[in-house]
Amino acid sequence: MKQIVLSELRSIAEQAKEGLRTVSDKMGRPIKIYIHWSGGHYQQYFNDYHINVGQNGELFITTEDFNEYKLHTYHRNSGAVAIVAACAYNAQSTNNLGPEPPTEAQIEAIAQAIAVLTRTFDIPIDNRHVMTHAEAADNADGDSRWHEPYGPRTTGERWDFWVIYEGDEPGSGGNILRGKGVWYSYNGDICE
Ligand SMILES: [Zn+2]
Repeated sequence: MKQIVLSELRSIAEQAKEGLRTVSDKMGRPIKIYIHWSGGHYQQYFNDYHINVGQNGELFITTEDFNEYKLHTYHRNSGAVAIVAACAYNAQSTNNLGPEPPTEAQIEAIAQAIAVLTRTFDIPIDNRHVMTHAEAADNADGDSRWHEPYGPRTTGERWDFWVIYEGDEPGSGGNILRGKGVWYSYNGDICE
């Protein structure tokens, strides 16, 4: 696990871009960015995702090669990059995200990573390219070729970022993360 800054994230993404494009083309789908929470503790990081986001917004990578295959999003792993926020231990429902809910610093860091990755990969920040695990689980991109739905609209097995904060409108998490990502893509100089 290596801590990096956004400029390093950009060069790592740049190196992986062609490979990710080749694989995603082969699958007949675009390069995807999947946003997760770990369901673990704040200081607990996992190797199943390319990027872990710490409680204070730190970015840790598990590999220098984002083409490395990781098991993060059921049947959607090829040609995709996974970001996980280290949080949500014992989250119960959209009104109870447990004792270690997502922090503001994590949300902003995810949004910045979304901005840098989408700029580098030349993909738009929309719900076909940047999805929460909650959305992916229910095939919210309309692509139901890979798995039966298992998200909050169906079985409820996975619902990462269905909300950002307790009490938010169910289903609003993805739009908030993408909206912030769009903002960072055009402001704050992080993509220059
Ligand atoms: Zn997940």
